[in-house]
Amino acid sequence: MDVDAIVAGGGPGGAAAASLLAQAGLAVLVLEKAQFPRQKACGGCLSPKVLSLGLDVEEVIEDVIEEAVFAAPGETAITYRSHTPLAYMVRRERFDQLLLNRAEEMGARVLYGYRVLQAREIAGGVEVVSDRGTFRAPLLIGADGALGATVRSFRRPRPRIALAMDARLSGADGAHAAWRGKVLIDFGGVPFGYAWVFPTACDLSTGVLGAKKRVHRLRGYLDRFLERQDLTCGSKTVSGWPLPYPAWSLRPVIGRRVLLVGDAAGLVDPFTGEGIYYALRSGLLAAKAIAEGGRRRAKRYQQLIRDAFEQDLRGASLLAALIHRAPGWSFRALRRHPGAIEAFVSVLIGRLSYAAFLRKVAQGVFAAGWRGLAGLKSEG
Ligand SMILES: Cc1cc2nc3c(=O)[nH]c(=O)nc-3n(C[C@H](O)[C@H](O)[C@H](O)COP(=O)(O)OP(=O)(O)OC[C@H]3O[C@@H](n4cnc5c(N)ncnc54)[C@H](O)[C@@H]3O)c2cc1C
Repeated sequence: MDVDAIVAGGGPGGAAAASLLAQAGLAVLVLEKAQFPRQKACGGCLSPKVLSLGLDVEEVIEDVIEEAVFAAPGETAITYRSHTPLAYMVRRERFDQLLLNRAEEMGARVLYGYRVLQAREIAGGVEVVSDRGTFRAPLLIGADGALGATVRSFRRPRPRIALAMDARLSGADGAHAAWRGKVLIDFGGVPFGYAWVFPTACDLSTGVLGAKKRVHRLRGYLDRFLERQDLTCGSKTVSGWPLPYPAWSLRPVIGRRVLLVGDAAGLVDPFTGEGIYYALRSGLLAAKAIAEGGRRRAKRYQQLIRDAFEQDLRGASLLAALIHRAPGWSFRALRRHPGAIEAFVSVLIGRLSYAAFLRKVAQGVFAAGWRGLAGLKSEG
C-alpha cells in the first residue's frame, strides 16, 4: 500500500490529522485498533475553544451548558450562570465516529480492528507493524495515546500521569432532568483533582480525576462523591484511563519522521483534564506542517505546538499546583474576591489565558494581602 503518512489511532487527534492531510491531497492510512462506534472513558465536555476550530460538530452536541456549579466539601457552592455557552456535551462514541467518517469522506483509508504493535524508523521512512500486517510510509503520526504503541516503540520516558474515572449513569431520570444545561465541578474531594457531573442527551457522565501518586483507590472517591450528590439510582458503567501531564518543554516529535498528537504528545490541560481540544488542534497542526512539505516539517510542527500551547499549559500547571494544594482556601478566595469567579470561568472556557488569570491573582494578592484576599488562613 503506497501512502504518504500512516496515522496510528483514530481518536480525535488522529481523525483531525487524517482529514486535513487527505483534504490536502495526501494518501493517508489510519490504523485503529477498535471497531467503531466504541466507548471511551471521557466526560464528553467540549470547551467553546473546540467549536472555534471550525470542525462542524454541531450535529453530535447533546446539551449546551450555561450554568456551572462549583463546590468543595464543607463550603457553600457557587453557582455561575452565563448568557453564552460555557461548554458543549457530546458522547464520545458519536463524536469520534463523526470525525473519523469525515476523514474517510475526505479520502483517508481507515482500517478498523488493526492494532499497532510496534513502529521503527527505516531508511526513508517508518515501518509500522500491526497485528494484521506491516505498513510503510515516509511519515507516522502517533495518535494512539500517552502509553500507546508509538510512544512505547521509541522508548520515550513515561509521562507523569493523572488517573480519571468516568461513571456513566443511565436511567437516573430525575437526576438527569435536574442536571440538564448545567455542570458540577467539585474540588477537594479527590487529592490533586476534582469530581464532576456532566449531562448528555440521555445520561449523566460523572467522574473523578486525581494525581496518580496521591490517589490510592480512585473508585472509593467516585463512590463517595456519588453518595454525596445522591446519584446512586439508575445503572452505572464505570471506566478509567490515565491522562498524561504535559512536560514543561513540549517535545511532540521523534526524529524527523514521527509526529505525536493529542495524548501521545502529552497535550492535556493539567488543571481541567481537557484533552479533546488539544488532540484536535495538534492533529490539525501536524497535518498543516506535513502538507506545507519540506525537510523541516518536523521542526516546524514542534514550533507550531510550542507557540500554540506551551505558555498556556505551563500556566495551567501553576494554577493546578495552587488550587489543588489548597482547594478550600482557593474556593473561598474565588467567592470573596470581586470578579474572581468571572475570571476563573473565562479561563475554563478559553476566553482568558492562564497567564492573564495568574497575573490577576498576583495583583489581587498584592493589593489585598494573602489574608485580605481570602479572608482566611491558607490550608498550608
Ligand atoms: C475519564 C476521563 C474523562 C475525560 N473527560 C474529558 C472531557 O470531558 N473533555 C475533554 O476535553 N477531555 C476529557 N478527557 C481527555 C480526553 O479523553 C483525551 O485527552 C482525548 O481523548 C485525547 O484524544 P486522542 O485522539 O489523543 O486519543 P484517544 O481519544 O485516546 O484516541 C486514541 C485512539 O487510538 C486507538 N489506539 C490506541 N492504541 C492503539 C494501537 N496500539 N493501535 C491502533 N489504535 C490504537 C484507540 O482505540 C483510540 O481510538 C477525559 C479523559 C478521561 C480518562
